[in-house]
Amino acid sequence: MYIILEFCDWTTLVTVSHVDRAGRNRVRRIIALQIRRVLRNFMDDRHHVSFFAYLHEIRAAVFGSVPWSIMSDTRYFCCRGWVRWPTHMLIATPADMLHPWITVLEKAGYKQIYNRSTYGYIFNIRKWAKRAALFEREDRLQKRSITIFEARFDSILQVILSSLKTSDMTIMTSSRLFSFYPTLMKGNQSLRAQPSVSDAPRAWWHPSVSDYITGRPCGINCPKIWRSTTKLEGVGELAWGGLDNELDVAGNMGSSSVFAKTKIRWRIGNKCRNPFCVNFSL
Ligand SMILES: [Zn+2]
Repeated sequence: MYIILEFCDWTTLVTVSHVDRAGRNRVRRIIALQIRRVLRNFMDDRHHVSFFAYLHEIRAAVFGSVPWSIMSDTRYFCCRGWVRWPTHMLIATPADMLHPWITVLEKAGYKQIYNRSTYGYIFNIRKWAKRAALFEREDRLQKRSITIFEARFDSILQVILSSLKTSDMTIMTSSRLFSFYPTLMKGNQSLRAQPSVSDAPRAWWHPSVSDYITGRPCGINCPKIWRSTTKLEGVGELAWGGLDNELDVAGNMGSSSVFAKTKIRWRIGNKCRNPFCVNFSL
């Protein structure tokens, strides 16, 4: 059963997790296994529990390529042989919660490289993020890095929804996973929210990045559409339950997360260049 589930796409995993408690627990085990695989690339197993405990305690979240590599349907089919996991992790942390990360990450072998204001750093994110800190760990094979964005205000969601591309609006908390553009994720696609973003070197966890969807209407993914986080309409959400399936025991899915109670509006542009879309403009 677990071998079969390992090769199921994300939609199937979500469906199986809703069938009954046994299905939910099996899916949770598969996801926790995948999370450990990805996290192992950043820190030894003995640090995983404390990493998630801290994430849970301060309500921070990992976003971008790490949760993408857990949820993306290309996770098994495109990586036969040598698997290249993400080497850079993004974390959004609440206001005044940057400093404690130094202790957590130093224990996992990271050194802080710099800590700077986000002014002039990432134009779009500076409105919502007060500071950014970069941490690096080097081993024999490769350099790993973690960037932490400290929110200027209460919600870390504002920081994440100001990301440079839609694939970065994919989130892992201590017990849940979210995709704010699930149909794009399913197609291994990402739209630029900032014109300056270039295509990253191709890897299975780097989706193809474009300015607009081709060949079909944008729907909810249109850059011109204002969306709201209220009740997480159009957002893919799954409670994975923590490394030991100890969290979110009752809430499998739906809009019971803290994020669903926020009222943040966002969009990823002000023009749509998709000729198939009703919002098309040059
Ligand atoms: Zn459009």
